[in-house]
Amino acid sequence: MRNGEVSFWWQARGGFPPRRPSLPKPLEADVCVVGGGYTGLWTAYYLKGMRPDLRVVVLEQAFAGYGASGRNGGWVTSELPGSRARYARGPRGVAGVRAMEAALRSTVDEVGRVCAAESIAADFVKGGRITVATSTTQLARLRAGLAHDREWGDGEDVVSFLTRGQMRERINVAGALGGVLSPDSARIQPAALAEGLAAAAERRGVDIYEATPVTAILPRDDDGAGGAGDGAAVARTPFGDVRATSVLRCTEGFTAALPGARRALLPMNSSMVATEPLSDSAWKDIGWDGLETLGDSAHAYMYAQRTADGRIALGGRGVPYRFGSATDHLGATSPETAAALGDIVRRMFPAAASARLEHAWCGVLGVPRDWCATVTYDAASGTGWAGGYTGVGVAASNLAGRTLADLVAGESSDLTALPWVGHRSRAWEPEPARWAGVHGLYALYRLADRLETPAAGDAAGKPARIALGEALGRAGDAISGIPH
Ligand SMILES: Cc1cc2nc3c(=O)[nH]c(=O)nc-3n(C[C@H](O)[C@H](O)[C@H](O)COP(=O)(O)OP(=O)(O)OC[C@H]3O[C@@H](n4cnc5c(N)ncnc54)[C@H](O)[C@@H]3O)c2cc1C
Repeated sequence: MRNGEVSFWWQARGGFPPRRPSLPKPLEADVCVVGGGYTGLWTAYYLKGMRPDLRVVVLEQAFAGYGASGRNGGWVTSELPGSRARYARGPRGVAGVRAMEAALRSTVDEVGRVCAAESIAADFVKGGRITVATSTTQLARLRAGLAHDREWGDGEDVVSFLTRGQMRERINVAGALGGVLSPDSARIQPAALAEGLAAAAERRGVDIYEATPVTAILPRDDDGAGGAGDGAAVARTPFGDVRATSVLRCTEGFTAALPGARRALLPMNSSMVATEPLSDSAWKDIGWDGLETLGDSAHAYMYAQRTADGRIALGGRGVPYRFGSATDHLGATSPETAAALGDIVRRMFPAAASARLEHAWCGVLGVPRDWCATVTYDAASGTGWAGGYTGVGVAASNLAGRTLADLVAGESSDLTALPWVGHRSRAWEPEPARWAGVHGLYALYRLADRLETPAAGDAAGKPARIALGEALGRAGDAISGIPH
């Protein structure tokens, strides 16, 4: 099994893409985007579409799509990156949250539209999203979630219940008791989207410099006291400064490495495995012909897709966080995590039990202290940023990119009125509290999942174990502030 090499997705494309040149010399630009993942690339792409006259540069420490954008599960999902209740505390209240949810649903189609318009062959298929329950407690949690969605106004067109039989007709997950289906989700090949999007941005005239780490972002400081001093914001690199009217931080799980942003976003680790292509007979047993994105309702949940070349790619948490906000080395994950994800593949899909795991990898996503993402721009300092999508950033980064483009261009729009614009989260605790908190949280979740899983031959599980599991899961949610 190959481990790391950034991701299966990049290796499936024949390895890393040819490297673009580094920043050749100090530059002046109108807009400097730091980070060549989906957020930075979508922002640059839309901005250049709106204002072709602007000089827009992207500075990327490795290569476009090196981060989560080239490693994720390939769910273009309309899920809200944060808590409805928290966003509803903003000035537009519940209406603002509903507007953001509607915007995220249409964003799934927008990603598909751009893929078609720009000839990005990213295996985009909008098959919907299924969350499956494999224990009575998970089923109860799904039903409670559905009732909550109904209270917030979601009808059958947004989310619907699947009986055990309906679930089985779509995807034959062993032990499935039911599921919920949301139509607003698509499957993609993540690295193909990143690579195609970078090329599309370049066609619009964006300059992308790779192998160019930004070591500091300095706000505009007209009085010269401690900032850039001449009316420009600055992105500092080993090859010189880029001075720009606007510098945008789009660095998600890597943000903690930047001075002044150490405790802004916690780099949460997520790991994935990909099986070898399954046989036709295995696919006949499993079904999954609708290519839905599939997750479960465990506390430490899994997410999966059927790839275009007939594999199962499945992810979950593994080691959730590295001390001091450290990130992985080229995506290598621990052998124990890869083995645990392989166990999930075999448990959920017995027809794939003999399939070899061909690749394992991991990456970091950005988690704000209140688990709510933000898009922010401050014209006075010339700085902005977007991110903190807590693991559902593939669609959200498109919406964020369009929004950040509007903010930088000074356009008020429906997007700039959404409740994540200008949202502020407090800083994470310093170490070692940060490490202990996240590891404690995931230990709780795993214990809760174990207690809720019925023992062999005991379909319902023991009520006392289940009650304890549920209580521990809720305790975890309360500690983390994970919202519902
Ligand atoms: C394993 C995994 C599975 C996931 N699955 C899903 C999923 O199925 N669906 C979903 O919606 N979301 C998923 N996510 C989350 C999703 O991938 C991210 O939310 C999204 O890709 C974020 O895009 P981004 O551009 O903000 O961040 P990234 O893609 O991480 O991009 C940030 C970029 O900035 C660069 N950078 C960082 N610091 C600097 C610096 N100082 N100087 C220059 N460049 C810098 C990095 O190299 C990187 O390329 C997953 C994440 C992971 C890790």
